Parts: sequence; C-alpha cells; structure tokens
Amino acid sequence: MKNKTWMVLAMLCFLPMAATVAQENYKNKDAKNAYQNEDFYDVKNYSEKEMKFKKHPKNIILLIGDGMGVSHVFSGITANKGQLHLQNMKCIGFSKTQSSSNYITDSAAGGTALSCGKKTYNGAIGVDPNKKPIETILEIAERNDKATGLVSSSAITHATPASFIAHQPQRKMYEEIAADFLKTDIDVFIGGGENFFKKRKDGRNLVKELEEKDYQVFNNLESAKGVKSGKLSVLTAPEHNAKFSERGKMLQEATDKALEVLSTDKDGFFLMVEGSQIDWGGHQNNTSYVVGEMLDFDKVIGQAIEYAVKDRETLVIVTADHETGGIALMNSNIEKGHVKANFATGGHTGVMVPVFAIGPGAESFMGIYENTEIFEKMLKLYRFKK
Ligand code: MG
Ligand code: MG
Ligand code: ZN
Repeated sequence: MKNKTWMVLAMLCFLPMAATVAQENYKNKDAKNAYQNEDFYDVKNYSEKEMKFKKHPKNIILLIGDGMGVSHVFSGITANKGQLHLQNMKCIGFSKTQSSSNYITDSAAGGTALSCGKKTYNGAIGVDPNKKPIETILEIAERNDKATGLVSSSAITHATPASFIAHQPQRKMYEEIAADFLKTDIDVFIGGGENFFKKRKDGRNLVKELEEKDYQVFNNLESAKGVKSGKLSVLTAPEHNAKFSERGKMLQEATDKALEVLSTDKDGFFLMVEGSQIDWGGHQNNTSYVVGEMLDFDKVIGQAIEYAVKDRETLVIVTADHETGGIALMNSNIEKGHVKANFATGGHTGVMVPVFAIGPGAESFMGIYENTEIFEKMLKLYRFKK
C-alpha cells in the first residue's frame, strides 16, 4: 500500500513536468524544421538596358554556395517573399557533380572539379586521382598577370577555398594547406583559420612569413578598413567564422574589401567567394540555418551583380559543389516568408546543382554539363595565351 501511494504521488509530480518537456521538444523541433523570415530585403531588378556587357570578361567572380541545391535557392526565394538578387542572373544551367570515386562528391573533389577542371577522389585538394598536383584557375590567372582572391565564411583552409590554391592528398591537412598559400602570390584572402597559420606543429609562423612577403595581415575586417591596395590577408577567426546570426555582415564586407583591392589591378582579377555554411545547415537538417545562410549569400550575389553591371567586363558565376540535405519544401508560405523544409539525409546528395551567370560570356553556362566544364568555360572566356 505504501509503495503504491508513493508511486501515485510520484506520477502526479512528474506528469506535468514530462508534459512540459515534451512540449518544449516539440517547439525546438519545429524551430529547426521551419523558418519565419522577419528581415525581408529589397532586390534591385536590372533592366535589359542596364545589363549591357562587353564581349569578353576581364574579371571573373565565382560564387560558390557550398551544398546549395535548387531547394536551397527556393527556400531563400520563399523566405524573402518571392525575390532574390540571384534572379537577375538569366543564364542558367546545371552541373553534374559526381567525383572520380563516388556518385556523391564531397566539397574537396567538388571544389577541385571547379578549380582545376579535373574529376578526382573525395577528399582531394587540387590533386588528380594519382595525387598529382593540378594547376588551378587561380594559379593560371595569377600566371597571366591577373590579381587573385579568395573569401570564405568558413576557415580559408577548408576544402572549398583550399582547392583553389593548395595541393594536398587529404582535405584535413589544414596546416599543409595553409603553408601552400605562401607558395602562391594570391593578392587577397579573407576567412577564418588563423590557428593553421600561427599555432602549428612545425613551429612556423605563417603570419610573419606573409608579412615578410609584403602582405598586410589582420585578424579582423575593421582593422583592414584603410587598406585600398597591395597584398592583404584577413584571418577573421581562429578556425571557422561564426554562423550567419552571429558573424554580422562578415561575408558582404569581406567581398567588398576583396573587390576594392583586386580592382586596382589593370590586368583584371579572379575572385572566388564561398557561402560555406549553407552546407552546414543542410548537414544539421536545420531549416533556419540553411535559409539564413542562403539569404546571407544572396546579398553577396547582389553585390557581385552590382559590380558587374557597373564594370561591364566582369563575369559573375554562382554555383554549388553539390547538394546537401536532400531538401524538399512543403507547407511553406511565399506570401509570408515562411519556410518548412524536409530533409532526406544528413549528408550530401548526387543531384545536379544550378549554375547561374551574368556578364560577358554568361550564355556559355546554359545547358547540362559536368562540373569540370565550368573550369574549361572560365579558362576559354579569359582567353589566356598559356
Ligand atoms: Mg596583375
Ligand atoms: Mg566549403
Ligand atoms: Zn558538406
């Protein structure tokens, strides 16, 4: 009898608590699966007349939304009530992302396909399936007197930016990747990853070495404000930059700074900017993370389009290395900016990813083709003599 009384009392005490906890869990789950935008922004729509470009690009801005599939783009369109800057890009194609080793690529092989025009194995950074280094579009541009730059909202040593400048058999070799930056003459690089330059097992201080190579090195964008030209390195975080909700306008400001410095080169430039964390939102199956990063990246796309329209000699390409999350959009509301996403996986998928282009040569990005062709198209449009 005594035991029974205790049990009833215990149940009476714990039931309401359990119910509250369950309710909170449900709320959290809903917050993760749905996103209500509260920060709508206006999108500039350029007229045909404004979008007149010269015949050949002097500059290329390649914008990579890591993990950005069609559903990610449409989650952004939905969240911003039907409009994104991206919609000014009228030349649209699809890229097939399979790597040499897998139906589903990772960001290293996906990045290397774009940067080097070569299918390679998952994990490879700027090397072919035999681990032999391949010259990247950034290195070729540099050899042809262009100014070059990399900007990323992850660590600058992470797979996507790394595949444009480093040559390593495995993506996790961050310190080796950081050291590879010193082997090039890249003009501007902005992103996280300071630890891989300064706190190294081999004792080298790459920040010092960069300064000896005449780089202006900073660990925040605010301090780099006065820099208008010359070589610039801003290592904005010890490792990765914070997520969209905490890093402010880092990616937009970094892109502005890179464009400002790179445009001082009369020979033109190559710039890659990565919206890194669209992928991480997908991996977490976190709708607000995906949408927040997508909208942040779209603002960068808006800046690049604005630059191209004014400059008339700049080609802007927006694409992804692969899709992440297998996102399906149901029960969303485009009038209210409400997104509800369902995820098929916590990993990447093998589907085609979109390619958007604007500027001189943009038409050549229409159609369905292998990701490696994006490299070939850029090379051809630059008209390098080799
Ligand atoms: Mg030059
Ligand atoms: Mg990446
Ligand atoms: Zn990923």
